[in-house]
Amino acid sequence: MYSDTHLHSYFSGDSETPPPEQIEKAIALGMETMCFTDHDDHDVVSDIDFELKIPEYIAEMRSLREQYSGRIEILTGIELGLKTDIPDHLREVSENDSFDQIIGSVHFIAGLDPYYPEYFLKFSASSYRTYFDTVLECLELHRHFDTLGHLDYIARYGGPYGLTYSYREYADSIDPILKKVIDCGKALECNTGGMSRGLSDPNPSFDVLRRYKELGGEFITLGSDAHSPDTLGYEFDKVGDILKSIGFRYYAVFRNRKPCMYPL
Ligand SMILES: [Zn+2]
Ligand SMILES: [Zn+2]
Repeated sequence: MYSDTHLHSYFSGDSETPPPEQIEKAIALGMETMCFTDHDDHDVVSDIDFELKIPEYIAEMRSLREQYSGRIEILTGIELGLKTDIPDHLREVSENDSFDQIIGSVHFIAGLDPYYPEYFLKFSASSYRTYFDTVLECLELHRHFDTLGHLDYIARYGGPYGLTYSYREYADSIDPILKKVIDCGKALECNTGGMSRGLSDPNPSFDVLRRYKELGGEFITLGSDAHSPDTLGYEFDKVGDILKSIGFRYYAVFRNRKPCMYPL
């Protein structure tokens, strides 16, 4: 089983899962390595506290790593919420040498998370365009991450508002993002979290992953975005086969912020 490098525990404001539950599930699935990536969305207005308590988190991850040594390798990552107005915070987090992997994810646009209807009410027909423009803007300002998380995160939530989405429709917004990821030597994440909620494709979609490969993209990471053990490693075998058919041969697992390549 491929290693899951995007998963959450009770250190994320939107998960109640004790880390050992995720670890036991990963062991049961036959994973040799897993990377916790709890949320840190700094300075956002939300009912949920998305600020990660970094010292406590790192201490617990260290202790679990020792406790499970010989059974599974536990890596310490973070899902760092990218925004244009918090450059100092993003830099400070990235300078913490305890992290194996930093996923850069855009969750908040103009203070709104597309998880909630207010985002779509505000941006209506330009909802997707605005999201992609914000991702590009963040990439132009910040390089403090290793892999770009769920590039088309917004596609998870637009359906109920009658908004269609395809790579082709937004190619002129998505291509510059893919080129920037490649030029900066970053990885692109293939995230199956939306599939566990009923989407047919991962985030980003297979068409976007195909385009990334066409443009010369090589580094991909694989994550389920599981907030509880039931979706850990979700559809990894199926997605791995499709990634291979697109032409990818390896996926990356970051250790000490360096990519180690494993065959798909
Ligand atoms: Zn996310
Ligand atoms: Zn996540």
